[in-house]
Amino acid sequence: MRETLLANQTFAMAAEQFEQTADFLDLEQEVRERCKWPKRLLTFSLPIRMDDGRTEVFFGYRVQHHLSRGPVKGGIRYHPDVELGEVAALAMWMNWKCALMKLPYGGAKGGIACNPREMSRGEQERLTRRFAQELLPFIGENIDVPAPDMGTNAQTMAWILDVASTQAGYLVPGVVTGKPVELQGSKGRTQATGHGVAFAATRALSRLGIKAKDSSAVIQGFGNVGSHAAETLMFDGVSVKGVSDVGGAIWNDGGLDIVKLRAYVRETGSVVGFPESEVIDPQELLCQEVDILAPCAMERAIGKELAPKLRCKVLAEGANGPTTPEADAIIEERGDIFLIPDVLCNAGGVTVSYFEWVQNLQRFSWTEREVLTKLETLLASTFDRMVSFAEARKCGHRLAALALGIKEVADVKKTRGLYP
Ligand code: NAD
Repeated sequence: MRETLLANQTFAMAAEQFEQTADFLDLEQEVRERCKWPKRLLTFSLPIRMDDGRTEVFFGYRVQHHLSRGPVKGGIRYHPDVELGEVAALAMWMNWKCALMKLPYGGAKGGIACNPREMSRGEQERLTRRFAQELLPFIGENIDVPAPDMGTNAQTMAWILDVASTQAGYLVPGVVTGKPVELQGSKGRTQATGHGVAFAATRALSRLGIKAKDSSAVIQGFGNVGSHAAETLMFDGVSVKGVSDVGGAIWNDGGLDIVKLRAYVRETGSVVGFPESEVIDPQELLCQEVDILAPCAMERAIGKELAPKLRCKVLAEGANGPTTPEADAIIEERGDIFLIPDVLCNAGGVTVSYFEWVQNLQRFSWTEREVLTKLETLLASTFDRMVSFAEARKCGHRLAALALGIKEVADVKKTRGLYP
């Protein structure tokens, strides 16, 4: 029954990673069971009026993996493929990520199966408000604090905040993070995930003895994470030669001007057709010889067919779950790629979300420099902790990062005991 409810390729992948790590940690069966299964799986049907007068019913989900270490935290995704199992997988990864970063949170994730690219702004607003209304009994600054993910942004969070504040009768900024700065969002939150991806990638380069100014990168996905990662890398001196989005891929051997490209995407909606570039096949893009490859789009982008063909030195996982376990095994066997696993590589987003929540609770705000400096300090120490653990235990970086996160959760569960 549990397996049927969550039957989904991404959940199977997250569960397999968990089991491998639990074996490595030699976790007792009782703790293993308690860590693996989500605490709450919520499903909502969301009827809204479309612009043409029709009523359409969408399905929305929120999964709260566990609340043992504090409120749960995780993004809300709008994408046609969203389903309960996928959301549960993403919630599980959020769990290990928060624990790895030592943030006082459990993991959560939410989403609606919809295509925001084909919806008007009014339809998106009505859908978000309806979802927020249904979510209200289950979210709040002490329970569950949503944030943006794929297909959602600061405006989406502003609508959720508005519904919660209207119900409460006063502004409740701590109900979501990743909201606009004028509504007590944090400076630095929008670029935080991409900034963290670039920070971790250049830290890996320096471990390999490669200078950022002599290096090159390819980025898959040019949304919030990918575009900010690309921009920070370019400012660090890295030549970003190729990027892709859902519409296609582009290449410039001399390096793309990411500031101009971001402006172009804001205007046209896609990287395709950018004047200072040539077209390249999106799969071939991932196999180009560059120093950094950063998949920043969907899960399972790198499978067992692609893994042997990769020619990067650093694989910086901006997206959640971009590498399948089969591809992981191939990459580990090859031994020539420095992997920065998703739970660390894209943790900049939840870390600055945590900073935003702290600022909201304190009714205080930090400067962008303060935020990004605190983020870099935390990422640097976690990065070094992961590498030292991997070296000491002679294991891969993914296993090291997951082991550090899962152990933290398992220890808390053991200390709290079992409520009979
Ligand atoms: P987004 O919606 O802003 O952008 C997604 C990008 O991926 C778009 O450019 C889209 O065109 C592209 N894309 C989709 N399918 C593609 C494909 N098949 N090939 C190439 N490009 C494709 O989403 P985002 O917020 O940037 O999130 C991207 C990934 O990062 C997701 O896995 C998300 O869970 C993860 N993530 C996001 C955050 C955050 O703060 N936004 C934090 C941590 C992790």
